[in-house]
Amino acid sequence: LTAPSWVGARGLESLAGSGDLVELERTLQGGAIRLMSNENPNGPVPAAIRAMQASFHEAAWYPASTEGRVRTALARSFNMPEEQILLGSGSGEILKVAVQAFCSPTKHLVTAIPTFETPTATARGLGFPVREVPLDSQLRLDLDGMLREVRGAGLVFLCNPNNPTGHVHGKAAVERFITAVLAADPEVVILVDEAYHEFVDDPSYASALPIVASQPRVFVSRTFSKIYGLAGLRVGYAFGQPATLERMAAHRVSNGVGALAQVAAVAALADTAQMAREQQLNREARAYTARVFTDLGYQVIPSQTNFVFVNVRRDALAFQAACRTEGLIVGRAFPPMTQWSRVSIGTMDEMRRAAPAFRKLLG
Ligand code: PMP
Repeated sequence: LTAPSWVGARGLESLAGSGDLVELERTLQGGAIRLMSNENPNGPVPAAIRAMQASFHEAAWYPASTEGRVRTALARSFNMPEEQILLGSGSGEILKVAVQAFCSPTKHLVTAIPTFETPTATARGLGFPVREVPLDSQLRLDLDGMLREVRGAGLVFLCNPNNPTGHVHGKAAVERFITAVLAADPEVVILVDEAYHEFVDDPSYASALPIVASQPRVFVSRTFSKIYGLAGLRVGYAFGQPATLERMAAHRVSNGVGALAQVAAVAALADTAQMAREQQLNREARAYTARVFTDLGYQVIPSQTNFVFVNVRRDALAFQAACRTEGLIVGRAFPPMTQWSRVSIGTMDEMRRAAPAFRKLLG
């Protein structure tokens, strides 16, 4: 079986290591455990489900083009002016339109490898130059190395915490980096991707959000796909100054965030008690999962996210294929770290069920 023709190259790439899509669907229907895309294993925040149930009639209408109710709710939650908020169809759309707005054939993207690949893929698709900086010897984003590539760049992509490593840079390092980048080039713009912000418990970390108020060339992206459990609805957002956001908004698809997705996002945001529960559940299952691998003698990068990155000391794609036969959907390929596999954190029950398979395959 081959992948259906409607699957674009990027969709296929995101499933690399898991075989073809028809097979994947079959495996999931057979009760496989999904540890692949850093989704929330507990499902959507319950308040979001209730809110959507009360709003099904809205599916008949186009959503308001300003996406005002979500922006109002975000403005209230984060104490930011509404005009400093841009929504996206997932934060993936924010990343894509940022490359479209700020890079060009003569203005390159500065990013890392491995890191989240949407900016790289977008730039390559448009024929814009990309400079990918490998991680440093401690498998952190090489901030000094990235800084050396900044002159003449259009956009610098800083994924903090980084996907797929789960490592987070602390407040001081990020502030130093941003200051140095802004000084290195008079036009360059910095995107700080904080998709996993809510999972961080390292006290040295802080969001780059406060920097947005004083720095028109810095903006921050976040998402409802991870801790809020709404990945299937596609709602992401960015905080930045209006002139910066307007340049990106010009590249968006109109009505990109559906009406029910907006309803769900507003309800999810209001349920702060649920957020604390999700954080605790992830923290416990993440510690358990890391221990499964370290007890077997494998290196795991200390994770501040809802996934762990494990050196399986063998071809990661072969390991992931073996996981499939054990009913575990684990992915995917992160060149050049071809012997490392990312494992998303499931529920504690799922991780307890997965542990014997990991021991069997790696023991
Ligand atoms: N940024 C990072 C670092 C991610 O890992 C992801 C999804 N895996 C995204 C952005 C995009 O997610 P979404 O479009 O669902 O918000």
